[in-house]
Amino acid sequence: MIYLDHAATTPVPKAVADAMYEVLTRQYGNPSSQYGLGLEMKRRMEAWRQSVAAAMDCPADRLFFTSCGTEGDNWAIRAALWQNRHVGRHIVTTAVEHSAVLECCKWLERDEYEVTYLAPDQQGGITAQQVLDAVRPDTALVSVMLVNNELGTIYPIAEIAENLPHKNEKTLLHTDAVQGLTTFSCKALHADLVSVSAHKIGGPKGIGALYIGPRLRNPRPLLPGGGQESALRSGTEATAQIAGFAKAAELRMANKQKDQAHLQTIKAQAIEELTKIPDLQILTPQGAPHILSVSLPGWPSQNIVNDLSAQNICVSAGSACHQGKPSHVISALRLPKRTASGVIRLSFGPETTPAEITACAAALRTHRETRLPML
Ligand code: PLP
Repeated sequence: MIYLDHAATTPVPKAVADAMYEVLTRQYGNPSSQYGLGLEMKRRMEAWRQSVAAAMDCPADRLFFTSCGTEGDNWAIRAALWQNRHVGRHIVTTAVEHSAVLECCKWLERDEYEVTYLAPDQQGGITAQQVLDAVRPDTALVSVMLVNNELGTIYPIAEIAENLPHKNEKTLLHTDAVQGLTTFSCKALHADLVSVSAHKIGGPKGIGALYIGPRLRNPRPLLPGGGQESALRSGTEATAQIAGFAKAAELRMANKQKDQAHLQTIKAQAIEELTKIPDLQILTPQGAPHILSVSLPGWPSQNIVNDLSAQNICVSAGSACHQGKPSHVISALRLPKRTASGVIRLSFGPETTPAEITACAAALRTHRETRLPML
């Protein structure tokens, strides 16, 4: 199988699975238990927190485990709005956020919050100035992602953070950094809230983390209960998942330079080989090195995905499965209809090989040559 969908999820390396197995079968104590097995788990929990915090460059005592990136996004937004409940009910976000942020904002609109959705340019770009111009005296929260999951576009979070206080010193800044984990530093980004997820970096599904910065003095608990996660997110800790998250973060950090160079080479090769296919358009040559969005205008993306899938090649459709309609991200780019409906996303990981790129390019070329385009 050729797996070119690392932005959707990633394979778990054996060392990560082994770390999880050890916790499931031998270190199964509850970190709240007061005997050896539990106390040992408590100690290891904090070591694992340190590993994930190191991968985000943030203090471990401000990092809290969540059940996924979606939970971190929802918690961050709700925590910021609670903290700023006397500032106002206005939120600034973008039209290209992950649904985890957009759907949360839509629910908030039902609760009489007002949300400004910023429109991107044709590469998905949004400038810091655009964001700052939208901030008002009653803006409680700005939520802008770090790396777009469909396009790979990178957003200027540090620049927004630097200038936000000049527009409104109370406004809090959240960034969904799920697609950027191990490539950024919380200290350099200066966002108040940063959410991440393990399964995008070789960790297991069902575990994420949220950095909550010092401007949130008394964050509102997401789940009141038994007091775990500094009483902010109660529930017995998902120890095996957390162990896997920590091991994945350690592995990715140890190989960071090598992996980034590899991804850049792979993306450059993909651009070079795909550009040779007649009609094919490269939509995002810049941006994160693990994501490449392309379009075959006139050839519906779901047909491409199905055809490649039949050859055991996994890529994803930019015009997701919404009855052939482009995703909200692709729609926001305002591309011509034929271009928008032919978008596919290739996304790479440290395991991706040059031969896999060549095989995928060949399959796409064959699709282009043997399937009739839509009128
Ligand atoms: N945010 C972004 C940018 C993502 O790419 C994803 C997952 O695809 C999420 C949030 C949601 O993360 P999770 O699957 O851990 O809930």
